[in-house]
Amino acid sequence: MKVALTFDTEFPGRPTLPGVEDRILASLDAAGVEATFFLQGRWTRANPETARRIVEAGHSVGNHSNYHAPMNGLDDELLRHDIRKAEGTIQSVTGVDPRPLFRCPFGAGQDDQRVLAALEELGYRHVGWDVDPRDWEEDRTAEELERLVPDGVLEDGNDKTVLLHAWPLATAEALPMILNALGAESVQFVAPGKI
Ligand SMILES: [Zn+2]
Repeated sequence: MKVALTFDTEFPGRPTLPGVEDRILASLDAAGVEATFFLQGRWTRANPETARRIVEAGHSVGNHSNYHAPMNGLDDELLRHDIRKAEGTIQSVTGVDPRPLFRCPFGAGQDDQRVLAALEELGYRHVGWDVDPRDWEEDRTAEELERLVPDGVLEDGNDKTVLLHAWPLATAEALPMILNALGAESVQFVAPGKI
């Protein structure tokens, strides 16, 4: 089966520890796994070195909006401005065009025809997910993630896109075990466009 591991990078609503993204990159590198990172524009401007390391490590990048606002709450003009602003930042910082991958913050707008039409007009398609272990929850532990991610991926034998975030410490702590568990099941890691 095929699995697309995706990590959203963004400014969370609470303080985070530095270096978590690098720990995630090191675990992916050690396992020889390529993932996809959805970069928020503001985060990319604040963390240009980390954004470049993600690209240099061979991972794919997508657009996770500029302000990380619910896209269905933005008017037509703001919606396009936000998508383009993030795209310009990601291109200038990393040298990579994030099109055609876009992920709505909070998934808000992924079923909204107005949002989807704007994305299509700008060269994007929305990338959702099949497995969401809610790694952003404050009390989520690494042990829980080590169980929830493989259980969700292996639930029914279908290909899966997994939603993770690049900043929770529990995600960084759990990732080596998650990669081990999925590797033992002969999972093939692919970009989300391949699912
Ligand atoms: Zn997000």
